Amino acid sequence: MLREDLTFVGTCDIAGLVRGKGFPSTELPTRRKVGIGWTHSNLMQTCFGPILDTPFGTAGDLMIVPDPSAEVHVDFRDGSAPEHFFLGDICNTDGTSWECCVRAFLRRAIDALNEACGLELLAAFEQEFVYTGVEDVPGHAYSLNAFRRQGIFGEMLIAAIRAASIHPDSFLAEYGPRQYEMTVGPDSALAAADAAVISREMARGAAFRLENRVIFSPMPVADGAGNGVHIHFSLHNASGKPETSDPAAPLGLSTVAARFAAGVLHHLPALCAVTAPSPVSYLRLTPNRWAPTVADLKLQDRGAALRVCPVFEAGGEESRQAQFNLEFRVCDAAASPYLALGALVFAGADGVARQMEIPETETALPTSLNAALDLMDASTAMKTWFGPVFFEAYMRHKRSEVVYVADLSETELCARYAQIY
Ligand code: GLU
Ligand code: MG
Repeated sequence: MLREDLTFVGTCDIAGLVRGKGFPSTELPTRRKVGIGWTHSNLMQTCFGPILDTPFGTAGDLMIVPDPSAEVHVDFRDGSAPEHFFLGDICNTDGTSWECCVRAFLRRAIDALNEACGLELLAAFEQEFVYTGVEDVPGHAYSLNAFRRQGIFGEMLIAAIRAASIHPDSFLAEYGPRQYEMTVGPDSALAAADAAVISREMARGAAFRLENRVIFSPMPVADGAGNGVHIHFSLHNASGKPETSDPAAPLGLSTVAARFAAGVLHHLPALCAVTAPSPVSYLRLTPNRWAPTVADLKLQDRGAALRVCPVFEAGGEESRQAQFNLEFRVCDAAASPYLALGALVFAGADGVARQMEIPETETALPTSLNAALDLMDASTAMKTWFGPVFFEAYMRHKRSEVVYVADLSETELCARYAQIY
């Protein structure tokens, strides 16, 4: 069959979807410099496809420039076209960064943390999803049978993640019907967000080749189990030494980690607009789902917004320090990992810079996307992190999405989002 190798370059945008364009791979040397054409209003494409509202109109040109450190070239060896894509940065045509580039947002957050304390953040994403290639049978939760019944999907997924140069950590049958979870190893913040995007795409790619789907939607069905995205993170100094733990301090947190956590809790109700950015996200953030409902920090509690994770002491003190991490649980796959992690890091950096203390009281999380957007709209800090143009674009994108689905029942809403994510 006559075929020619194609490469794709894209970004994981406000809608949390990877969008971009393809080109003949022979053009790669040039494309590495000039990227692929993009336009401002592409950012305003909702998860449903149409642009419902835009501050940018139809004018203007940008480019998505491939980042060589975010190249994926995975051949599933089944005769299908290999997955060859790059994640990239959205730049102006003169090569400068566009103010609404999601990866640039995360880079600015990393800089803010560095400025606040000189530390680096390592992160690892744990992502839950439904795999449609198995029947829903009773007793599925964590069972060997459910692990087996997904057939070769898990093996394909782990092989694809590894072939994409990401370190796979685990794959398991989760609590919900047909629900599975994948976790990858920790990496520096930008690489960790890239890895979250890439591993999602590898799950989609493996399922597609088996003529099935994966569903990352935060609530695939209204009365079912939620799909969370849990972001594990820890702080390290310039020589890589962990700085998150102090066994003698409350909850075992170092001073800087406690301030970071305090910043996250302080900004959290408003952060939800970015980390839980769809109307269905708020069906997940409800009681008795092992998902958070208030801005709290707890030791080893899976209902908390921020969980101090367990450490397994058997490996000795050095291993304990290295394992020690916090987990942010108010995130789902409707969020771009760049924006979710960026918002988390900005909030933590603010806590460190302003020497915040863990609040005595627990503020309730918003119960709808509109309520979260109201809080974001009132947050001067978030306006500064985004900058005026990106802030307005984000608000208009998300407000228009809320209006678009306002008349749907919960069942219809879940079905609609399950088609997309
Ligand atoms: N599915 C839960 C969530 O929506 C998390 C379950 C777990 O702790 O793994 O976040
Ligand atoms: Mg889980």
